[in-house]
Amino acid sequence: MNIHEYQGKELLRKYGVAVPNGQVAYTVDEAVEAAKNLGTSVSVVKAQIHAGGRGKAGGVKVAKNLDEVRTYANEILGKTLVTHQTGPQGKEVKRLLIEEGCDIQKEYYVGLVLDRATSKVTMMASEEGGTEIEEVAEKTPEKIFKEVIDPVTGLLPFQARRLAFNINIPKEYLSKAVKFMLGLYQAFVEKDCSIAEINPLVTTGDGEVLALDAKLNFDDNALFRQKDIQTYRDLDEEDAKEIEASKHDLSYIALDGNIGCMVNGAGLAMATMDIIKHYNGDPANFLDVGGGATAEKVTEAFKIILSDSNVKGILVNIFGGIMKCDVIAEGVVAATKQVGLEIPLVVRLEGTNVDLGKKILAESGLNITAAESMADGAEKIVSLVK
Ligand code: ADP
Ligand code: MG
Repeated sequence: MNIHEYQGKELLRKYGVAVPNGQVAYTVDEAVEAAKNLGTSVSVVKAQIHAGGRGKAGGVKVAKNLDEVRTYANEILGKTLVTHQTGPQGKEVKRLLIEEGCDIQKEYYVGLVLDRATSKVTMMASEEGGTEIEEVAEKTPEKIFKEVIDPVTGLLPFQARRLAFNINIPKEYLSKAVKFMLGLYQAFVEKDCSIAEINPLVTTGDGEVLALDAKLNFDDNALFRQKDIQTYRDLDEEDAKEIEASKHDLSYIALDGNIGCMVNGAGLAMATMDIIKHYNGDPANFLDVGGGATAEKVTEAFKIILSDSNVKGILVNIFGGIMKCDVIAEGVVAATKQVGLEIPLVVRLEGTNVDLGKKILAESGLNITAAESMADGAEKIVSLVK
């Protein structure tokens, strides 16, 4: 789960990570009021969307007085911001963060991720702050420093100091930078984060080390024990179909293509998307209905696929192991009865109760193209949507 910058900063503050003072605003008047409350001469108006790259897209503006706050808030609120992370359709700005303007000495990067190769949380830091870390990794990888963190001891102060030295944080800021990193790690672990990215971390003219930006992602599988994080969820920022899918405990991710996929098992779902691509098609989604799905769950899954207006054809690819083919067939039939089916449907069934499943589909009166194999199914659906 993703949260907004202002929420991330609110959380980090509790862990002793220094952030600028700021306040969220939902309207232009609230934005001006917030700037008035800050009482600083310079304030920054920041679009709050679940995507980075706002600065370059005009979503971060420095205001020198309250009139400018009003002007910028007016300009940014309600605007559809297109950044390199939003996709071409962009994201509408519904909230602003009004924050005190900082006297930036230098921008750095600090991030925490789970490194799957070592199975350990790793802190990364760079003196190339403000730019995208992917770009730094590509062009000047030697400027990224890493500390692999032992889960038993946690991030140790010497590791934080080593990182701070490596990225050339001036020594007068050193103890604050170390406190910052230790607090960030604490928040990451206690709140079950999957990513914590501070870009930029800045040193300021008045001797502070601050997080000017905060991107925190949380592990969905741990959300049940993070009640306070759940309250940060902003459904406006999420895909409606993905929200519906999560209600039914389905693994669903919306994609840009036009072939809806219903598959059981994440591996088979990935392979199905690959083979569609292989035949020059584009999947509209990743959908894993899971191992032990009921007919109701399959029905909901199929309805979610059908609700996507980009979908011009559907490929059902099921290998019935724990999942029974007749349950899938029942779900497909029930869903199409409820919402109709006007697009091509290719079904490849294999495994437990496959004959019963095929019989249910054959007797349903639906216009279904049967496929003999995965490749056959992919080839057929690609040619049908063309
Ligand atoms: P994004 O990464 O989405 O572009 P950031 O929060 O990183 O958004 O802001 C972009 C840039 O704007 C920062 O690198 C920094 O230079 C500047 N900036 C952001 N917040 C402030 C602030 N409170 N005071 C001064 N400059 C800021
Ligand atoms: Mg940033």
